[in-house]
Amino acid sequence: MDKPSLSTMDEASLSNALRALDAPAWRAGQLRTATWQPFIGGFGDVRQLPTALREQLEQRVLFSAVDGAVETEADSGNTVKLLCRLVDGLTVETVAMETPARPGSRRRSTVCVSSQVGCAVGCPFCATGRAGLRRSCTAAEIVDQVRTAAFALHRRGLGPATHVVYMGMGEPLANAAATVESLHVLVDHAGLSPRRITVSTSGVVPGVARLAAEAPPVRLAVSLHAATDDLRDRLVPLNRAHPIDELIAAATRYAAQAGRRLTFEWCLIGGVNDTVEQAAGLRRLADATGAHVNVIPMNRIEGSEWGPPPAEVSRAFLAALRGVRVTVRDTRGNEADAACGQLRALLETRREMRADGTLGPPRAPAPTG
Ligand code: SAH
Ligand code: SF4
Repeated sequence: MDKPSLSTMDEASLSNALRALDAPAWRAGQLRTATWQPFIGGFGDVRQLPTALREQLEQRVLFSAVDGAVETEADSGNTVKLLCRLVDGLTVETVAMETPARPGSRRRSTVCVSSQVGCAVGCPFCATGRAGLRRSCTAAEIVDQVRTAAFALHRRGLGPATHVVYMGMGEPLANAAATVESLHVLVDHAGLSPRRITVSTSGVVPGVARLAAEAPPVRLAVSLHAATDDLRDRLVPLNRAHPIDELIAAATRYAAQAGRRLTFEWCLIGGVNDTVEQAAGLRRLADATGAHVNVIPMNRIEGSEWGPPPAEVSRAFLAALRGVRVTVRDTRGNEADAACGQLRALLETRREMRADGTLGPPRAPAPTG
């Protein structure tokens, strides 16, 4: 990757690149605007620029660090799943979800980005974790997933992207430098409000501190999944290095500084973390921090016997959380805020529907690593 990436070039490097091509510096503004227009898919589409300049830029600057994407639609076309190809041929998953306006809520388009190709944390219920880490994404690769998704939405008459969640493949705070840089680009150049961006972490405590020190005040979601260290050591192996108390303390400091409510994510796994004792522990942590809780019934993955608990067990777990602000990520529910992990199951369900016209049982989602 020798060429600089358009989306992460700062003002000075953009002006320098233009100067080297004998183009006036004010072209930088045109180029910056064009970068974030969802109908522009390459330098060739930037009609304000002279043809020769477009061709020269093509040679010297990488228009996008995402080199094409395979698209799959779901939810009557309101959800687009993209398998984004990076310049070295590796792929990451990106999901764009459009939620039409409803009484009391405006339309929104959420893009879920990957921060790494694979993941080193190794949570046993996660398809990405089972595949291990190939490499981290660059800031441009993170940001350009948003541009690619916005382009895909626009072609369908949807978008523009209003929200971004870092809930695709990888652990964003194990790739903190690129994550922080990408957040600045999304806020400063794409014009997204930090309150419409959510970074989800499995608990990289130094990364949480770095986010507090260096990033715009985005929302933080903590993938908790267990309320006791013995169980969390198994579900999120990173917990052995950064136990629950330490994580909660760092997340609480972050939330206070950023002025945002925390979110706890809880992948509900039958026979593993679905007891009322775990629910009581979760409730104590949510009460102490004022966190909102997202419960995501586990999506089955290949190579794991684990799955979601039976309905009555889920009900008892949720009943034990009474008083806490809880959202349940039901696959038939509101897809707008769905985490990608949940979305994978949704896509499989819909595919089953299309094949025979009836709603069959959801199939195990394909591994994503
Ligand atoms: N690495 C980060 C962000 C990516 S995962 C993190 O772990 O927070 C985004 C969310 O999807 C996490 O809360 C994760 O625990 C959840 N998830 C992963 N696999 C899942 C599965 N099989 N079923 C339900 N949720 C899952
Ligand atoms: Fe990595 Fe998050 Fe999957 Fe755990 S849940 S393996 S941290 S991507």
